[in-house]
Amino acid sequence: MKVNCPTCEKSVTYSTDNPYRPFCSERCKLIDLGEWASEGYKVPVEPTLDDYSSGMDPNEFEHTPTRH
Ligand SMILES: [Zn+2]
Repeated sequence: MKVNCPTCEKSVTYSTDNPYRPFCSERCKLIDLGEWASEGYKVPVEPTLDDYSSGMDPNEFEHTPTRH
């Protein structure tokens, strides 16, 4: 089965032999993913340090040895 690479529109074989399908190469895959990310999809904003300090950090809590 042949498909056109969404990025460069080169004809590529759509098979399990091609780990980048439907792209022709890793480069084209990354380019497409980059455009997808920049096309208005909102990426969750990472919490700032202020957010961590204002509440309990569950990771910090778990790693704290309980010595009484
Ligand atoms: Zn391509």
